[in-house]
Amino acid sequence: MRFTVLTLFPELVETGFHTSITGRAAEKGLLSLRCINFRQYSDGGNGYVDDYPYGGGAGMVLQAPPIYRAYREAVGEGPRPRLVYMTPQGRVLDQALAKELAREEELYILCGHYEGVDERVLEEIATDRVSIGDYVLTGGELPALVLMDAVSRMVPGVLSNHESAGDESFMNGLLEYPQYTRPEVFLGRPVPEILKSGHHANIARWRRNESLRRTKEVRPDLLEAAELDRNDREFLADLEAEQETARK
Ligand code: SAM
Repeated sequence: MRFTVLTLFPELVETGFHTSITGRAAEKGLLSLRCINFRQYSDGGNGYVDDYPYGGGAGMVLQAPPIYRAYREAVGEGPRPRLVYMTPQGRVLDQALAKELAREEELYILCGHYEGVDERVLEEIATDRVSIGDYVLTGGELPALVLMDAVSRMVPGVLSNHESAGDESFMNGLLEYPQYTRPEVFLGRPVPEILKSGHHANIARWRRNESLRRTKEVRPDLLEAAELDRNDREFLADLEAEQETARK
């Protein structure tokens, strides 16, 4: 998977990307990152890439021409790439979108700053607009890192077996069960006995139930779309009955 990021702060993006799992995957050649600082494409090379908004108002807006020139040079003669503009006004990133984007061989990402980007260049080059949540950050670099991390984990080979994404939250539409490691007792709290039993089927059932319990408590909205079997439904019905009794 090749990422090209158009940004005013390439060092921030590069440092984040080349750390830990994505950095190791880049060393193995499974991922690559090219950052392009569109300040280098400013009008007449004056270094300015922002200007006052038409119509007035606070803040500055990133100009269209430098971003467009940087984009055109990066794309060259190649086909029009998928380009995600990071924006709080976009589709909110979720696991399904991360999986979908991971199927691309190449992904371009545009990071805004200040008040945002001149709409006309977005109309010209952006194929997607993605938000990382309902809050506003100062720039698109952290959102771009979040997006690349979520997408990279879905690229085959990026996670080793022991880092596998299989059971993780959202992969099966539920939140993940609680995890434990050594020591066996921490501040008087023992690890649940069943996890030491070696009985794989019972452990799997316990984990599934804890997953259901956690999802019901924290994100009940996810249960509506999750694939549930008869055992799951029975467990949730028992849980509901327990909670009902406790409320009385
Ligand atoms: N004026 C814009 C608005 O109200 O939608 C917000 C601009 S924000 C201060 C500057 C840049 O940060 C945006 O252009 C975008 O690239 C990035 N950004 C901020 N919050 C974001 C979020 N939640 N998700 C994705 N990108 C975000």
